[in-house]
Amino acid sequence: MRKMDKSGLLHGVWVFGDYRNYFQNRVTLQLIAKSRELAETLGTRVTVLLLGEALHRYAMEYIAHGADIVMVAEHADLRQYQVESYTSVIARWAEAFKPDILLGGATSFGREFFPRLAKRLKTGLSADCVNLAVDPDTGLLVQTAPAFGGNLLAEVVTLHRRPQMATVHPGIFNELPHNFDAVGRVVYPGIEVEADMKVRVLRSRRQQARGGNLEDAEIVIVGGRGMGSKEEFRLLFELAELLEGEVGATRPVVLAGWADEERLLGQTGKTVKPRLLISIGTSGALQYTTAIRGAKTIIAVNRDPQAPIFKMTDLGLVGNGSAVLPLLLETLRKRM
Ligand SMILES: Cc1cc2nc3c(=O)[nH]c(=O)nc-3n(C[C@H](O)[C@H](O)[C@H](O)COP(=O)(O)OP(=O)(O)OC[C@H]3O[C@@H](n4cnc5c(N)ncnc54)[C@H](O)[C@@H]3O)c2cc1C
Repeated sequence: MRKMDKSGLLHGVWVFGDYRNYFQNRVTLQLIAKSRELAETLGTRVTVLLLGEALHRYAMEYIAHGADIVMVAEHADLRQYQVESYTSVIARWAEAFKPDILLGGATSFGREFFPRLAKRLKTGLSADCVNLAVDPDTGLLVQTAPAFGGNLLAEVVTLHRRPQMATVHPGIFNELPHNFDAVGRVVYPGIEVEADMKVRVLRSRRQQARGGNLEDAEIVIVGGRGMGSKEEFRLLFELAELLEGEVGATRPVVLAGWADEERLLGQTGKTVKPRLLISIGTSGALQYTTAIRGAKTIIAVNRDPQAPIFKMTDLGLVGNGSAVLPLLLETLRKRM
């Protein structure tokens, strides 16, 4: 494999191509857009890694969205994601072609196999990054990630080991528009899929999405622990229906069983960028607010005037959510 890359064509910035549920799952396209920026600063190329079967159409999509090269591993044993086989193929490619940077989405896949990959390649990994940039003086990748339990954001650099690895939440970066005139290369380096895998996928079934289109919603209503009960929380669904929006939740709400995990926003959940976000009974912990920073307008309701959420709102209402919500619903119903 080494011979193929005498030109250093494949060094640059690599992005793991997660093409599952392509039209809803945009994290790879978002990472390609960010990688373009990084690669242009570094004077290098963006390569997307594609593993599976019948991958040509995804390769074309990634090139149209900014990839210079798509590196493909087509094999029946890679048809379904499997942590050992995916780690093994990408680790071998990385050892052979020596990328400078390797990025993936902080999705269920990325969270599972990127730490293994980093261990295999004996390099560092910044998980759940909220920003990436190249330091203009050193050329190092600056990985901004929550640290110390998520209470502050740290800027991490990998000084000596390569690749510099990071996972990034979906929704943090914007994808580039589809460019029908884009030209790129598709390469098929050799692959070896290990025969004695410890885990074998027998069957997989698609789960019905319950969080709706939260990440693309124009209006998002979020409820926190301050909603008080499951019954009160249900009122948020009525409000979302009236406003044609989606409902999000903080972690205590999901832990209490008032909302499904698919609705979780934050460091360990989804990121949103709506036109309007209404946050009721949420204190404004950093682990939650990282997910809503991209909202254009934020309105919050909290009975505590000192609640940190008010530091980032366009309009803050100090009051009892259980009293404000029925009033809001009544007013909206009258107007519709
Ligand atoms: C590693 C790590 C990762 C984490 N990841 C996430 C994550 O992804 N997402 C997430 O959400 N959290 C996450 N957390 C938890 C996070 O730190 C906070 O604990 C959580 O976001 C708080 O949720 P909350 O605002 O609903 O509840 P609380 O912090 O309990 O706040 C409730 C708020 O409601 C107000 N209130 C109470 N009653 C009323 C009322 N009647 N009317 C109006 N206001 C009222 C209170 O004044 C208070 O400000 C994480 C924590 C760690 C350590």
